[in-house]
Amino acid sequence: MSQHTAPNGRSSVEIDWGNLGFGYRETDFMFVAKCGLDGEWDQGEIRPLRHLQLSPAACILHYGQGLIEGLKAYRSKEEHILLFRPEENAKRMIAGADRLCMPAMPAHHFVEAVKQTVLANKRWIPPPGKGSLYIRPLLMGSGAVLPPAPPPEYTFVVYVAPVSNYFKGGLTPIHLIVETTCHRAMPGGIGAIKTAGNYASVMKTQLNAKKNGFSDVIYLDVVEKKYIEETSSSNIFLVKANKLATPELTGTILPGITRKSVIELARIKGYQVEERPVSVDEVRVADEVFCTGTAVVIVPVGSISIRGEMVRYANEGVGKVCQELYTALTEIQTGKAMDNMTWTMEI
Ligand SMILES: *Cc1c(COP(=O)(O)O)cnc(C)c1O
Repeated sequence: MSQHTAPNGRSSVEIDWGNLGFGYRETDFMFVAKCGLDGEWDQGEIRPLRHLQLSPAACILHYGQGLIEGLKAYRSKEEHILLFRPEENAKRMIAGADRLCMPAMPAHHFVEAVKQTVLANKRWIPPPGKGSLYIRPLLMGSGAVLPPAPPPEYTFVVYVAPVSNYFKGGLTPIHLIVETTCHRAMPGGIGAIKTAGNYASVMKTQLNAKKNGFSDVIYLDVVEKKYIEETSSSNIFLVKANKLATPELTGTILPGITRKSVIELARIKGYQVEERPVSVDEVRVADEVFCTGTAVVIVPVGSISIRGEMVRYANEGVGKVCQELYTALTEIQTGKAMDNMTWTMEI
């Protein structure tokens, strides 16, 4: 039980759970911790959700020294609250902090902060089947600096927002276009970490794709412009007969936790999974294509536009493998199926 009481003293919220969508919504509490020049994180605390105060010279504002994470809490039918592999998010943030010269929040502290924030906002966790509580941890250089350099203070924040399931009924396919001019990441760059600039740099491309009726784009490698990488915020898989292929992690692709979980699940189910360079030509002959990420879980791809040619997939992209993996993964995440993988953490 949480010791935090909602501002109005209520333990439930009046929300139309059927029409949540996937947007920002204010909840009751956030978690805030600070780290100074000694590199030691204070314990942090749950506070009422308020605006943050930052110096106009805060490093994050000028030089983009910031990392985000994203994970979900589900309410099971038995009213258990389940997190999905939160240590994986902690590890990824530690790797990102190293890349950006930030003091990392230790994994156990990260997970504890996530737990506390979810429990404090318990009334915002949607009922079973209606969605999940999206959890957004954030690490940033909050101290003031003039020239670009690591600042004297770092802030770690966790906030949450209730979101609906991406799919209301059955799986709904998305439509993608292969992007041939703009690139998301380069070798030696920051494509493998969840840092703010990776999203700012692709907004223009994404908006352009949306204007033309696509959900998102598929980025190509910057060196040969021949291998597919991922979309703006999800990883990609191709299915051909009994084989799955997904681009290997070479530093330009975000190492998705859903990606990792899908690879493990698919192998258990007897599929062969290859992590390797995936040529854009393979997209033309794939049986199924799907994308993975915390927000969408697994989403089928109905069509892909490649240099003016439209490749359409059977059954509008809703394939057998995609469906099988979606069901298996979501049943674990929501506590419907036995979690033999010990992926979920009950809090
Ligand atoms: C977050 C993200 C993903 C998916 O990662 P998950 O851990 O599965 O949510 C994939 N690509 C990019 C660029 C991302 O930011």
